[in-house]
Amino acid sequence: MKYFGAHVSAAGGVENAPANAHAIGATGFALFTKNQRQWVAKPLATGEIDAFREACERYGYTPAQILPHDSYLINLGHPEKEPLEKSRAAFLDEMQRCELLGLDRLNFHPGSHLQKITEQESLDRIAESINMALDRTHGVTAVIENTAGQGSNLGFRFEHLAYLIERVEDKSRVGVCIDTCHAFAAGYDLRTREACDATFAELERVVGFGYLKGMHLNDAMKILGSRVDRHTPLGEGMIGMECFRYIASDKRFDGIPLILETPDEARWSEEIAKLKAFAEEA
Ligand SMILES: [Zn+2]
Ligand SMILES: [Zn+2]
Repeated sequence: MKYFGAHVSAAGGVENAPANAHAIGATGFALFTKNQRQWVAKPLATGEIDAFREACERYGYTPAQILPHDSYLINLGHPEKEPLEKSRAAFLDEMQRCELLGLDRLNFHPGSHLQKITEQESLDRIAESINMALDRTHGVTAVIENTAGQGSNLGFRFEHLAYLIERVEDKSRVGVCIDTCHAFAAGYDLRTREACDATFAELERVVGFGYLKGMHLNDAMKILGSRVDRHTPLGEGMIGMECFRYIASDKRFDGIPLILETPDEARWSEEIAKLKAFAEEA
């Protein structure tokens, strides 16, 4: 079973996200459980938690279909002590919010070295940050997203993801989310079936599909290896539609949230319908 969705709005409260997903024909969704541009959020109220759980049940969304995303402010590999601690506290709060909502995974960007420490030193901090959050939570998997490698962002090589997983103590609660735009921007070709075969064989070899807990389906505005993170609607970028047909028809992507972060919200229902059609053809 394929779970196709988009990163939907939770404006007015997390309990509104499931209805927003249902309205576009989504069988999965992503959301922020707090304002993604602020450090601090009000704790979730019991009423909100209950309403969220009820809405998920009403529209048929189980935790395996939902991929919450953390705040963009968090940098778990920060070179400086104070911002690192602030990031770790905010990440723990995000993990705990997921736990309260009954969600089983949290998608996050690994972090950036900001040209002040080495890649490896920053990766070591990220791994430590993940361990600290896992120590203090239960039932929520930390899902590391690959990045485009823009600026000093880490996670653009599958080897970075593998390095982090290797250093996480509880392997049962760490996973990865592969964003197609980010992978392409980082130099992993996805333009043809053969290219997809090679890129995903590389993912299997370096990381392993057992760790795949979600995908972000985005086409890419810039060329292969550009290291620039700009999404476009499916089929309108440099990757092209074949990659999304490939993913929709490949069993290795069953049972996890497959989430659009494409720029034109008005087209999500059409994009989801197309993905569903590809899955049915298979
Ligand atoms: Zn993404
Ligand atoms: Zn992106």
